[in-house]
Amino acid sequence: MPKKYENVKEYHDPWYALTANRLLVTLGALRDEVNCDVCVVGAGFTGLSAALELAQKGFNVILLEKDSVSGLASGRNGGHLQRGFSQSPGWLIRQYGLETAKFLCNVSLEGLGLMLMRMAEHDIKCDLKFGHLTAATKPRHETELKADIRDWQKLGHKDIDWWDEKTVQETILTGAYTGGLFDTKGGHFHPLNYALGLAQAFQKHGGRIYEQTAAVDIIPGETNRVTTASGGSVLAKFVVLAGVTGMKGLAPLRKTSMAVTAHMIATEPLSETRRQQIMTRDIAVADARFIMDYYRFSSDNRLLFGGNCNYSDREYASEDMRLRERMTTLFPLLRMTRIDHCWRGPLDLTMNRIPHLGRLTPQIYFAHGFGGQGAILTHILGKIMAEAVAGTAERFDVFAKMRHNPFPGGDLLKRPLFVAAMTWYRLRDML
Ligand SMILES: Cc1cc2nc3c(=O)[nH]c(=O)nc-3n(C[C@H](O)[C@H](O)[C@H](O)COP(=O)(O)OP(=O)(O)OC[C@H]3O[C@@H](n4cnc5c(N)ncnc54)[C@H](O)[C@@H]3O)c2cc1C
Repeated sequence: MPKKYENVKEYHDPWYALTANRLLVTLGALRDEVNCDVCVVGAGFTGLSAALELAQKGFNVILLEKDSVSGLASGRNGGHLQRGFSQSPGWLIRQYGLETAKFLCNVSLEGLGLMLMRMAEHDIKCDLKFGHLTAATKPRHETELKADIRDWQKLGHKDIDWWDEKTVQETILTGAYTGGLFDTKGGHFHPLNYALGLAQAFQKHGGRIYEQTAAVDIIPGETNRVTTASGGSVLAKFVVLAGVTGMKGLAPLRKTSMAVTAHMIATEPLSETRRQQIMTRDIAVADARFIMDYYRFSSDNRLLFGGNCNYSDREYASEDMRLRERMTTLFPLLRMTRIDHCWRGPLDLTMNRIPHLGRLTPQIYFAHGFGGQGAILTHILGKIMAEAVAGTAERFDVFAKMRHNPFPGGDLLKRPLFVAAMTWYRLRDML
């Protein structure tokens, strides 16, 4: 039987936090009035990317974080790197036309390039590995994934391959998959170590980071005043709101997004033999269902396994068991394997599953709603926001002009209607 966990707190700490490889020293909570050119609120990937880009462009930048740097989604995610958006390339073509779809998909690939460049430039060690497989579990998935490959090719991305059943089954040792879409440029990494590396690079360029500093309000003007729960305030010409919640006046903006909870587990370290009995290559794998399983090995040979999003506010305690069940259905060999860590993080979804970017005033920019495929997009869209602040807004405006509908049902019915819709998708996944 799996071991019972006595140290509950450690069990619920993300494996990433326990393997963070750098100490980051920040300025702590802001209690005074400070000035800068740009105040970035939120030190997830989006905020860090925008802040670093702005600092490198010579702006005087302050970054406010209500908890700790990348303590939420950005430091707790699956670490899968996959080009594109949560929507298929075909959907992007139908929705926005071929040229805009090309722009969007090229932006996502540029995002991956940006991350690699930053890892090299700032010497960020974050266990990067290449190769990402989206696996088909049924004939419908095969048809959809093959159509995706044709659409990627139409968009000029010719380096995405089809893996037949034999290749998939020789690589991932479960009988569950019948083929898959393989992206050689995709892969996986240690998200928190990457975020901490970006934060240090930002500081080296003169950036100031205040943690335990929740922004609570903005008083807009020629100079914007951002007030904080810790008593200090920031006077800034520009403000960038990056995945921000809980600020006064942002409720209308938040109607276009919905926070859900995603969970992950990490096994105990596996022996090399056991590891080879699961996967023969060190790639990241997700399946093609709407509510998917996704997994990969960590640098210390654990299987990091995620899936089974919680769309309501269900009990947290059982999620590790639900994930263990999914994992052992795929790999019965892991039935006796201990689960060492289980954690959760927030996913910020929009109705159309495309990130929502825009301006509240000509000097106040925002981005949120990166959903479950934000690792790459947050980086490039953070950079694109920085370009807009610096005066070149063409690329930003492509995103800012996209229509984002509020979730139906108003404050009262929004969540139950959403849960009902997701139940329908869950059932569809089973067919
Ligand atoms: C369990 C899980 C698994 C995932 N797996 C993957 C994956 O494998 N691949 C992938 O591409 N994506 C994945 N994602 C999604 C990805 O992590 C997110 O899309 C991305 O990290 C979003 O980044 P962000 O900067 O927008 O938000 P966040 O990382 O949430 O950052 C926002 C920051 O703003 C801070 N903040 C909020 N309000 C305030 C305020 N008022 N004042 C100051 N600070 C504030 C928060 O504390 C937070 O640190 C996953 C997410 C989760 C939760």
